[in-house]
Formats: sequence, structure tokens, C-alpha cells
Amino acid sequence: MGECIFCKITQGEIPASKVYEDQDFIAFHDIHPAAPVHFLLIPKQHIASLYEVGEMDQSLLGKMLWLVPQLAKRQGCENGFRTIINTGRVGGQEVFHLHIHIIGGKDRLPTMI
Ligand code: IMP
Repeated sequence: MGECIFCKITQGEIPASKVYEDQDFIAFHDIHPAAPVHFLLIPKQHIASLYEVGEMDQSLLGKMLWLVPQLAKRQGCENGFRTIINTGRVGGQEVFHLHIHIIGGKDRLPTMI
């Protein structure tokens, strides 16, 4: 956890281009955007991945998903967006701090799977 890059962003130890912050969450632009709009929503609490989510985290996860369309619209995604949560090695997770990718743009996104 001490070396977690997203915890460092939460704590202001490394900079991020923030799009939202409240007491529980922070959202910031992905440094390697895959589309015109690409930002990440993370809980401030360190949860390594969906595998580590507990029963106590249900309201946190609910709030996290509730925030997604609001933030997407604010970033200009009025006609749709994609959400991705990569989990574990097989899921392609690179940063082990739970995050939702929110991806969009003015055109239809390429099909991934
Ligand atoms: P994952 O594969 O779902 O774990 O994706 C991690 C994402 O975090 C990748 O899209 C990276 O480009 C992004 N990322 C890694 N470090 C930073 C950072 O310091 N700021 C913003 N985005 C980051």
C-alpha cells in the first residue's frame, strides 16, 4: 500500500489531473488515454482489486457506480461511454488499487470483445 501510485495521488504526493473529488473518491485523467475522454474513478480507501472488496464495501461500490454517469456527462460523454474494471493478472490489471476506467468520445468506440 505504501508504494501504491493511486494512494499517492489520493494523498497529493504525486500530481494528477483531477476531474472530481469528495471524501470517499477521486477521479483523474488517465496518463495514457485510450480515447478522447479517459479518466479513472478510484476510492480513496486502498482496495487492491474487486477480489478484495468485502461485504462492508457494498455502499461504497454503489456510490462509485452512481457517480460514473454523472462524471461522464460532465466530461462531455452525453451519448454514451464505456466502463472497464480490470481485475488481476488475467484481467490485465496494472495498478492494484481498485479503479473504474471511464472512456468515451464523440464517435462510437471500437468493439473490444
Ligand atoms: P489497469 O490496467 O486497469 O490497472 O490500468 C491502470 C491505468 O492507470 C492505465 O490506463 C494507466 O495509463 C493509468 N495510470 C498509471 N499511472 C497513472 C498516473 O500516475 N496517473 C494517471 N493514470 C495512471
